[in-house]
Amino acid sequence: MKHITPSGPISASVRLPGSKSITNRALVVAALADGISRLRGALDADDTRAMVESLQGMGVDVRWEQTDLVVVGAGGSPGHGDVTIDARGSGTTARFLAAAAALRAGTTTIDGNRRLRERPMGDLVRALGGLGAAVEALGEDDRLPLRIHGPALEGGATVVDAGRSSQFVSALLMAAACAESDVILELTGPVVSRPYIDQTLQVMAAFGSGAGWDGPSTLIVPAGGYEARTYDIEGDASAAAYPLSAAAICGGTVTVGPIPAESVQADLALLAVLGRMGAEISHRAGRITLTGRPRTLQPVAEDMNAAPDAVLALAVTALFADGESHITDIANLRLKESDRIEDLAAELRKLGATVVTTPDSLTVEPGDLRPASIDPHDDHRMAMAFAVAGLRIPGVAIEDPEVVAKTWPEFFDVLETLRSPLVVAIDGPAGVGKSSVSEAVAGRFGLRHLETGGTYRAAALAVVEAGIEPDDEEAVARLVDDLEVDIAAGRVLLNGRDVTDDVRTEAVSTAASRVSALPRVRRALVELQRRWVAAETSGAVVEGRDIGTVVFPDSPVKVFLTADPEVRAARRVGDLGLSPEEIPRIAADMAARDERDSTRAVSPLRPAQDAVELDTSNMSIDEVVGAISRLVLHRR
Ligand code: C5P
Repeated sequence: MKHITPSGPISASVRLPGSKSITNRALVVAALADGISRLRGALDADDTRAMVESLQGMGVDVRWEQTDLVVVGAGGSPGHGDVTIDARGSGTTARFLAAAAALRAGTTTIDGNRRLRERPMGDLVRALGGLGAAVEALGEDDRLPLRIHGPALEGGATVVDAGRSSQFVSALLMAAACAESDVILELTGPVVSRPYIDQTLQVMAAFGSGAGWDGPSTLIVPAGGYEARTYDIEGDASAAAYPLSAAAICGGTVTVGPIPAESVQADLALLAVLGRMGAEISHRAGRITLTGRPRTLQPVAEDMNAAPDAVLALAVTALFADGESHITDIANLRLKESDRIEDLAAELRKLGATVVTTPDSLTVEPGDLRPASIDPHDDHRMAMAFAVAGLRIPGVAIEDPEVVAKTWPEFFDVLETLRSPLVVAIDGPAGVGKSSVSEAVAGRFGLRHLETGGTYRAAALAVVEAGIEPDDEEAVARLVDDLEVDIAAGRVLLNGRDVTDDVRTEAVSTAASRVSALPRVRRALVELQRRWVAAETSGAVVEGRDIGTVVFPDSPVKVFLTADPEVRAARRVGDLGLSPEEIPRIAADMAARDERDSTRAVSPLRPAQDAVELDTSNMSIDEVVGAISRLVLHRR
């Protein structure tokens, strides 16, 4: 179980893992090439290990050298002899190698884990047959295990149904370049995930193949094989989706790379979608930068057929949009690592969204968000997408965090580098209820609570005890520079002495309000407050007068509480245990303090421009806490 700590605005730069799809394509093509290839920046994760070990099992010499894979090409015939290989959970491994195995001398049996045995293979088996390959499907419904007898890949024309998986087409393309004669592939059915086919062509071209489109549904692959080379693997655009969507929902800026501008990775389609939702995006010099505007995140209606892997990050981002998002044309998501439509919907609902599914679409209507424990259904992308949601929704946990190893073993470490402490800023005048409310909000979200008034009160107490005039800036500043003020577990410590009760008197209140008008005092105490919060990894609810305007101006949640003066005076009288007759006197004291706090030259008491103002005169504490909690979750 991995508990995700919520985050404030993001400021990070992420080196992406190598693209899984490009690594596995380049491995197959390099294995078929003439000569020794070096794949730089290759992905080392479960899916690519499955490919590497399967190729080794077929007899191909592949090895790691740091972050490079070195492949001794087999010149069009990857190994020989009778072997059984285990593709584990990797769809690309099973499918790409089923086609490549037709080029081997010997019998190749390909199997995989339970989930992979459920995934379709029949269209590939039939299309390979059309090229002269001898493929037996040993599983029901033409599924795994497959047994391929080779070498037998004559070439010629074949038809492939591309409506279920583009991986069939990619598998055929890569093997076809080593067939005895040219190959013509006719694609039938609506072509899913077309950019993945283009990506296969791009990798093949890099290794010398002239394969390409001949019209919208015909591919021509000239015979002739591949030439070995050194090849740089792009960063994974599917992985990029998670840090990018994190900045879109938490605000701040994230940069990811390396992904060259000419990249054809399908999931880059998410960039334009996040742009339509309101994020600001640029793609320059191999790096993508996204700046989020979470308060104005717009809902979208998107056909995601071409970028199915990005749907998970998109659906999670849609949880924070201002309305209902529609994600359409994604039927093939049901055939991925999990049934990504139903499983995704089930987990989104746990977080409070209303989700409607159809056989090929998903509608996400954000609701009252709430914490949940998320079952990733053994799917790395589910785990990563919902971990990102946890940066916004406090209390999200991922049940099976290890599943990310499939494509990004370091994902949770990277997520930690994205995070900044979440600061909820609560400002307002005296007696408005800031402390009780802040304490309750902090408790609800597992955040710490910092009452900055305590720091000014502690300084004021020291000034009073030292017999210094609170307005004598020079003398006060000298004293404050040497003070040790700390707030721990709701207690105020002055040079290690617990002064929590001593600082609550009206005399100290008045002195605090005078001392706090001095710029040098503020500089020292603001510094202390920031250090205090920086040490709190989970973040904090910070209350005071200038938190949203000065101390944490980037805070994503800013609240300014107000209440009628009589109401505030009555509350303060209750807090101090005084008799109701004292209300007028306390009201006058508070009015004088408010006046001084609001008119002082430095950091006056006033709402930040982007603060939400709440008049609590007629609200119970629970109602105020509820209203602020909604702001923490929805940030709008
Ligand atoms: O919040 P509390 O009433 O304990 O604060 C005492 C005084 O400290 C306030 O009247 C105000 O003058 C000062 N203060 C401030 N800035 C803050 C918090 C408190 O100036 N962030």
